[in-house]
Amino acid sequence: MSRKLEDIRNIGVVAHIDAGKTTVTERMLYYSGAKHRVGMVDKGTAETDSDPEEQERGITIYSACVTFPWKNVSINLLDTPGHVDFTAEVERCLRVLDGCVVVFSAREGVEAQSETVWRQADKYDVSRIVFINKMDREGADFERTLEDIEKRLSAQPFVVQIPAGSGPAHMKDPFRGVIDLVHQKLLTFEPEKDGKNVIENEIPEELQPEVDLWREKLIDGLSNFNDELMEKLLEEEPVPSALIEKVIREATLAQQIQPVFCGTALHGIGVQPVLDGVAKYLPSPADMPAVKGVDLKDAEKILKREPVAKEPFCGLVFKIIPAKTGDLYFIRIYSGELKANSRVLNASNGKKENIAQLWQIHATKKDKEGQIDLAGTGDIVGVIGPRDSVTGDTLCETKSPIILESIDFPETVISMAIEPESTAERKKLGETLEMMKRQDPTFRASENEDTGQTLISGMGELHLEVIKHRLLRDFNLNVKVHKPRVNYRETVANAVEVIGECNRQIENEQLYARLTVKIEPSEHESGPAVIVTSRVPPDTLEGDFLMAALDELQGCSEGGGVVGGFPLSKLRITIMTGEAHLVNSNDVAFRIAASDAFEKALRKAGPILLEPIMKLDINTPEENMGDIVGDIQQRRGIVAQCEPKGEIVSIEAHVPLAELFGYSSAIRSLSQGRAGCSMEPLEFAPAPPEVADGFAF
Ligand code: GDP
Repeated sequence: MSRKLEDIRNIGVVAHIDAGKTTVTERMLYYSGAKHRVGMVDKGTAETDSDPEEQERGITIYSACVTFPWKNVSINLLDTPGHVDFTAEVERCLRVLDGCVVVFSAREGVEAQSETVWRQADKYDVSRIVFINKMDREGADFERTLEDIEKRLSAQPFVVQIPAGSGPAHMKDPFRGVIDLVHQKLLTFEPEKDGKNVIENEIPEELQPEVDLWREKLIDGLSNFNDELMEKLLEEEPVPSALIEKVIREATLAQQIQPVFCGTALHGIGVQPVLDGVAKYLPSPADMPAVKGVDLKDAEKILKREPVAKEPFCGLVFKIIPAKTGDLYFIRIYSGELKANSRVLNASNGKKENIAQLWQIHATKKDKEGQIDLAGTGDIVGVIGPRDSVTGDTLCETKSPIILESIDFPETVISMAIEPESTAERKKLGETLEMMKRQDPTFRASENEDTGQTLISGMGELHLEVIKHRLLRDFNLNVKVHKPRVNYRETVANAVEVIGECNRQIENEQLYARLTVKIEPSEHESGPAVIVTSRVPPDTLEGDFLMAALDELQGCSEGGGVVGGFPLSKLRITIMTGEAHLVNSNDVAFRIAASDAFEKALRKAGPILLEPIMKLDINTPEENMGDIVGDIQQRRGIVAQCEPKGEIVSIEAHVPLAELFGYSSAIRSLSQGRAGCSMEPLEFAPAPPEVADGFAF
C-alpha cells in the first residue's frame, strides 16, 4: 500500500542540545496515538532514543525514523541529533527532508548549534516552522527569542501563536496556554490527561488588545505575499482564516517566512498545534521540485526526476541500522516506485542490489503490519536486502541510472589507536568497524599492517568515546584502546616552481627526464585534498611519460608532508613542462624526476603544519565568565563572540583541538558544574612554530 503523495510530510525536528527536541518528538508520538505513554528523556524511556548509549547520555546520537498519522496526513519524522559532534548526521537528515520544525528554548534563545542547523537547512532549501519551547521556565522570554531568531539567523519569523502568560506555575502570570492568532482562540491542554485534549476557549477580554496587535502584524506582513489578502486589507474587509492559512503555506513553502508556535513540550502545552502546522504549512513531496543528479557515464550531464510514480525509480540511502537478521537501510524515494522482491542498481558503485523486503518505519521496532509490497514516490522506507551500499549511495532502476548529489562529510579531526588482544579478535574488530563505517560516514577506520594497530578517526572526543563504548560494550570486543590524538595536516605557504631531474645510469642504462613542477597552496572547498594536474603544452611530451609523472606525484602526495609526515591538504601540484631524450627516456626516468621535483618543491614552498580548530559554544553563569575566558586564552583560544542572555552568558570560542582534551571536565570544575559546552570542527589553521617544532624529524 502506498500513500498519497500530497498527504506525506517528510520532516525533522532540529534544535540545539537540551532545547527539548526529544521531548517534543515524544509528545508528537503520544498525541498521534503512535505510542501509548509519554516517554521521558530524563527517565531514559524515550522512543526515538533506541541506543542504550543514547539513553545513558541523554542525547540523541543516531537518527531514527518514525512514521505516524496526524489527521489527514502521514508524517515521516526523522529524529536528528542535537549534539554538535554529530552535525554530519543532521546534515544527512536535512538532505532527505522537505521540511522541519526548529525548536528553541524560550530561556536560552538562539544558541550556536541552532545557528549551524539553520544554515544547513538554508543550504538544502528546507522549509521551516519554529517552536519556542520551555515557555514554562523561569526567565522564558517569547519576544526576546523571537528577536534573536530574526537577528542572529536573518530569518523571517511570522508569529501565528502567542503565549498566554509566561514562566512556572508559582509565578503571578504563569504560562497556561497558547493563543491561535489565525482562528482567534485560546487553546488550553488538560493537564490531568497529559495535555491530550485541546480545549478551544474564547480569548479573555484582558488579552484581546495584545492579540489584536499581533494579529494585525501577522496579516499586514502576509499581505506582502498575496494580492487578494492585500485587497481585503485595503478594503477593510474581514480576512477569512482559510485565506490566511493559504498565504502562510505558500510563503513557508517558498521559504519567505517561518511560522512561529510556542509551548512547553514537557508539560504538554502547544504540541498539537505544531503538528497541525506541519500538516498545513510544510510541503509534501509533491510540492518539491524535481530532484537533480548526474549521468553515470558523464558527470557533467545533469539529469532530473520529477516526484511522480511513472518516472523511473531513484532514491538515496541516508541511514543504515545493523541487525542480525539483515541490515535495515533507510531510503528516501525521489521518483517512481520501489517494489519488494525486486532488483535495483546502486549507481554509486555500479553493483546490483536486492530489495528483499520493504518496511514502513514505526520507530526502530519492526512490527508485522509494517511490511509493505510497494513504496511510492516521496516516501521514506526501510529496506532489507542490499549488501554493498553505504550511506549516501543512490539506488535506481537499472535501465535508467542516475547519481543523486551525495552528502558532503567533513574531514576527521581526531584519531585513536586500538589493538585487538588476539587474532580472532582482530577479525571480529575488522568486521565490526566495517559495519560501523557503513552506518556512520563521518567515522573512519584503517589498519596499520606494520604495527597491528587500527586507527579510528572522527569528529571530536565525544564521537570517538561513543564508538569506543560501542566496541567494548555492545560488541564485547577485547581491545586495548589508546589515548586519542589530534589529526594534523600539512600544506605549503608559497607557490614555487622547481625542476625535477633524472640524469643517471641505472642498470647500465643512461636515463634522462626533466620536469618543471609548480606547487601552490589552494583553497578549493571540495574534491581531493591535493589536486595533481598537468599544464604541459600539447605534443611536447609523450602521453605515457606524462601519465607516469602524474601518477608518481599523486603517490608522493599521499605519502604525507615533511613537517611530521602528516597528510597533505589544500595543495595544488601542476606539471608545467616536460623534456624527454630521444632514446634515454622511459617511464621510470619520469617517475624519478617527478619524485625529485616533489621533494624539492615541498621544502622550498615553506611547509606548514595545520591543526584542527574547534568551535566551542559555552553557556555559563556570568560570575564564572572571567575564569572560563582566561582558561580559553591559556589554551591558545580566542573568544569570537560573547553575548549576555538573562543570567547566563553565551560564549563562542575558537580553540585548537590539541588543547581541548578533557575540556568537558575542566569547564565543570571551573564553574562548579554550572557551565555547559559543546564543540564542533571549525577549520584547519596553521599551528604556531612551537607546536610544529615538536614534530621535527
Ligand atoms: P534535546 O537535547 O533537545 O533532545 O532535549 P530533551 O528533550 O532531551 O530535553 C532536555 C531537558 O529539558 C530535559 O531535562 C527535559 O525534561 C527538559 N525539557 C524539555 N522540554 C521542556 C519544557 O518545555 N519545559 C521544561 N521546563 N523543561 C523541558
